[in-house]
Amino acid sequence: MKVGIVGCGGRMGRMLVREVIKNKNTSLIGGVERSGDVLIGKDIGLLVGNDKMDVKIGNDSDNLFKTADVIIDFTTAAASLLHVELAAKHNTSLILGTTGFEESQIQKIKDCATKAIIVHSANFSIGVNLLLGLTEKAASTLKSEYDIEVVEMHHRHKVDAPSGTALAIGEAAAKGRGIDLGKNSIRERNGITGPRKTKTIGFATLRGGAVVGEHTVMFVADGERFELTHKAIDRSIFAVGAVRAAIWTQNIKPGYYSMNNVLGFN
Ligand code: NAD
Repeated sequence: MKVGIVGCGGRMGRMLVREVIKNKNTSLIGGVERSGDVLIGKDIGLLVGNDKMDVKIGNDSDNLFKTADVIIDFTTAAASLLHVELAAKHNTSLILGTTGFEESQIQKIKDCATKAIIVHSANFSIGVNLLLGLTEKAASTLKSEYDIEVVEMHHRHKVDAPSGTALAIGEAAAKGRGIDLGKNSIRERNGITGPRKTKTIGFATLRGGAVVGEHTVMFVADGERFELTHKAIDRSIFAVGAVRAAIWTQNIKPGYYSMNNVLGFN
């Protein structure tokens, strides 16, 4: 597949360049950066410490969308809103990893997905998406005699808690149980808390060192405890998932898809 990467000079962009070069089912035909960026004109292979590829980083996104089978986009919300229009204009598949959209902007992405395949996910890690799918399944199988607790650990620099992924795990568990997470979550415990309320989903947060991201969901009954754990080791997992999604778009009809579709959960 002919793959183009917009924002190829970013932290995720460089990971994506490496993964697309490495994958034998994909061929990197170009990368673009925003106008005026110092990387424009540089060789994309050399950018990531690989051999020279004779593919220069450009700034003509329209042309890249025209020539590629699929574009991978981990940039900014403002840039991605232009990219979804280009995907619709050229019927080019788009793997969209950018985060930070408002609700109305997501509607615009969905509108463009009537003309092009758009796979949109805030977390392209295959393992995390598998964890979400398995959590929903476990929560529907293990009834309310199994208390649900979500534990996460991240590096000392993380400023928010619980992590977005921990909350997504909570949402998946709540969906499996058929309950509303907002009304049934316990986000912290301190002092005399009283006994645990049944049918709630508890969260606990650990912070320290350079931990990239670890999540465990527990289903705890009187006689047994069932746990699912995911440990992220580095950010390349997002690029691996995005390239898998890119390959998945072959022979699929235009539409708005998620990693659940790519992994066969829906
Ligand atoms: P970054 O700032 O390192 O990279 C963004 C790149 O996009 C920069 O190189 C920037 O110059 C480029 N860019 C901006 N506007 C552009 C335009 N109009 N045309 C071409 N290039 C343009 O950021 P990052 O850490 O790589 O993250 C990028 C996005 O991906 C963020 O929204 C982040 O939250 C998201 N992200 C998503 C996942 C996931 O799994 N979905 C994982 C990690 C990061």
